[in-house]
Amino acid sequence: MRAAIYPGSFDPLTNGHLSLIQRGLQMFDRVVVAIAVNPKKTPLFTMQERMQLIAEAIGPEPRVEIDHFEGLMVDYVRKRKMNVVLRGLRAMSDFEYEFQLANMNRRLAPELETVFMMTGEDYFYVSSNLVREVASFGGNVEGMVPPTVLAKLTEKFGKKAP
Ligand code: ADP
Repeated sequence: MRAAIYPGSFDPLTNGHLSLIQRGLQMFDRVVVAIAVNPKKTPLFTMQERMQLIAEAIGPEPRVEIDHFEGLMVDYVRKRKMNVVLRGLRAMSDFEYEFQLANMNRRLAPELETVFMMTGEDYFYVSSNLVREVASFGGNVEGMVPPTVLAKLTEKFGKKAP
């Protein structure tokens, strides 16, 4: 049984994340989507909202589990007795950070392997950060996020008149 942990803030889930989960399911039998909770940051969506949005977007898929953790990712991965971490790579900008993170994690937990996947070309520029920012000014992020996330963003920020 091959399983991978896909950690992230998912604040909120985007179609880029979804594409990565779907690709991950082609490689792994099980994917655990793990929301990293950082008590020092105030997220746009609560952990419960984020979990629910992910569950709604994925639908009934027994091979996907949604969980959350606080603290070091390596501790969480160890606790779950797993050793593969799935991460996404977008443009060059992700590379440096992801490279640092993967090496730091390898140092902290040598048994851990990080696997990188790229999203489809439609989503390589999509980030939760940018989605939040655009939506907060009433911009249309349709097509970048699942419909349930779009509805929740519109509920939070409203919609600019066309
Ligand atoms: P973001 O970077 O969008 O705020 P996260 O911190 O939740 O999102 O990201 C979790 C992982 O998913 C990271 O490895 C990130 O590079 C990856 N990821 C996020 N969006 C995309 C995308 N559009 N294409 C590929 N990977 C992505």
